[in-house]
This record gives sequence, C-alpha cells and structure tokens, in this order.
Amino acid sequence: MYQYRLYPSQKQEKRLFNTFNICKNIYNELLELSISVYKENDVTLNRYDFNKLLTGLHPEVFSQVKQNIGDRVHKAFQNFFRRCKDPSSKKKGFPRFKSRINSITYSQSGFKFPSDKRLYASKIGNIPIVLHRIPYGTVKTLTIKRNRVGQWFAIFACEVAVKPVKNTSKKEIGIDVGITSFATTSDGVFVDNPRYLVKAEKRLKLLGRRLSRKKKGSKNRRKSKRLLARQHLKVGNQRLDFLHKLSHELTKNNKILAVEDLNIKGMLHNHHFAKHISDASWNAFVSMLEYKAVISGSTLVKVNPRNTSKTCSNCGAVADMPLKQREYQCNVCGFVCHRDLNASINILKIGQDLPESNACGHDVRPSFLKAVVVEAGTILDNS
Ligand SMILES: [Zn+2]
Repeated sequence: MYQYRLYPSQKQEKRLFNTFNICKNIYNELLELSISVYKENDVTLNRYDFNKLLTGLHPEVFSQVKQNIGDRVHKAFQNFFRRCKDPSSKKKGFPRFKSRINSITYSQSGFKFPSDKRLYASKIGNIPIVLHRIPYGTVKTLTIKRNRVGQWFAIFACEVAVKPVKNTSKKEIGIDVGITSFATTSDGVFVDNPRYLVKAEKRLKLLGRRLSRKKKGSKNRRKSKRLLARQHLKVGNQRLDFLHKLSHELTKNNKILAVEDLNIKGMLHNHHFAKHISDASWNAFVSMLEYKAVISGSTLVKVNPRNTSKTCSNCGAVADMPLKQREYQCNVCGFVCHRDLNASINILKIGQDLPESNACGHDVRPSFLKAVVVEAGTILDNS
C-alpha cells in the first residue's frame, strides 16, 4: 500500500463529498434489501445481483466505485455469518447502517496520472497530489479517503512479486506483549511505550476532558472537537511509527519469532482484558510482524497462550500467578524471574516445538536460551 496526500480544489471536494453521500445511500439501500431478502427467502445477494441493480443508477458516480460499495455490503454480510457461527462472538445482529462513508475505491480503472503532480479520478477530476515517493509494482486499486481532521489521501494497493529472502540470523526469540511493558523479549529486553507516545496519550485524555466540559452545540465545543481529532491522529501516527520500527527490528534480527495467539488470549481472559486500549496496538503489532517476517525471510509462530505466565521457564512447574504479582518465584526449583520475561521464554519454548518453526530449517535448540535464563533471572536454590 502506498499513501499520498491529495489537495482537491473546492469544486473537487464538493464532488467527493457528494459521491461519499450517494455511496452511503447506496450502501444503506443495498443493506436493507439484503436483510429483507435474507429474512424472507433465506438467500444472500452477491455482487452480481448488486451490479445488476446498480447499472444505470447514479450516473454521477463512477461504476466501479458503486460496485465496490456492493462488495462492502457483501463483506459485511459475510462477517455477519461468521459472527453467527462463532460462539464467542457477542455481536449477533445484522450489519449496521452507515451514517457516513469516508472513502471510495476504484477497483481497476478510472484513474491515471496526467502528470507527476495530478491524479485523474473519473467523475472527480485532476486532483493535485504529492508523490513523495514512487510506488513499486502494478497498481491494482485506488482508494480516496478523508480522515477526521479533513486531510485527503490517495491509497494505491500495488502488487509486487516478492523475492524469497533467506534470513541469515540464527537467533530465535519469544515475545510477550503486556500492559506494563509494551513487549518483553526472551533475550531480556523490555520494550516500553516511548515517552513521546505516553505524553501524547496523556494530552489526549486532557483534551477529552476539556471537550466534555464544553456546552453542546457551542463554538468552543467545535474547536475542542477539532483539537481532539488532531491529537487522535497524532497519537495514531506516532503509535504506528513505533510499531513499524519495533516489528522491523525484530523480524530483521531473528530467524524465528514466537508470539502468543491473541485470538485465543482474548477468549481466555475476562472482558477487562479486551477493553484495554493496548488491545488494538497488539493486534496491529502482530500483523506487522506477520508480513514483515515474510519480507525478511523469518518465521512467525503463534502459540497458545495458556499458562505462559504461570509456568516456570526453568523447570516447567505450574503455579498460580495473580496479575499484580510481578515476579515469578518457583516453589519447585527456586527460580526467580520477572513475570513477563518468564512468559516470553515460555512462549519461545512452545514456539520452538511447533512444526511451523521446524519446517524452515531450524534444527538445533539454541544453547543461548539457558544462558539467558541465568543472566536475566536469579537462581536462588538450584539443588
Ligand atoms: Zn521452577
């Protein structure tokens, strides 16, 4: 994906808003129709049904953009069926109607570059664009998006042939994601949320409190809202930057990376866990590790998080570990270790036993593991 800033003129902006609005109506109409057809005939409409319905309607919107809206409704319905089958999902209702749509997608054609400073999008015009770098590969789709602060973007999805790379590193690592430290690795590194991010998040809370004190419908409230949206954007960008750099480092320097399967983790823990803000960034972090591992030729394995914090990484004994207890103390072998570090070592051990990690040529269990344990934890009584 390549993302570039767009600077549409007032006229173009008006056309874009109008298109968004029509697309929202199309979305809601198609959804309503799908729901009633499903309720009455137990049939789901597919993209061909939608395309047939849409031909000739709304000539001011490019045909593929309309078809893409049909695809979105179809996808929302697929998600609805998946939720129905999933016993752990709490949301069982039909897909929701939309109050607004913030992006449109040209799926194959309808866009081109008349010059290196303009993007032509059918039915919108030649929009000024800043191509700060050249996209690689074949451009497949264009999405035009507006964020909450009012900035416009063009996002190109490109298809690139990835050359298989061999990761020359021999290191294997277990990663535990947590609340006190963002991540802890089995080689004894505690990665905290960067200071600038903590500071920016604090300001986010402050701005949120300020907004809640403003009178509804007032000019000050509107101003406050804009400031809050800007801060949200800033925090989001800073967080992404942090996650990109961290996941890049880890995948570049390790041949095998083991993480907990967050899907299972979410189910194991109570609802407090799921509600935590970090949830979203852990998910983003793991998906970054996933695709960056492919690029750098390393292997990411997801392990069942069951008992990773309760097991002694030295002798394998299992003990109860309430969340507030920050240190693992083994009653069996006397091993003492930071809670998260102990968990990350367990994650690595489980990961190494999975067939996925053995498939990629890893053969010998590294001896560094034991050394790390000794260095990071303290063995009190190893009799
Ligand atoms: Zn032990």
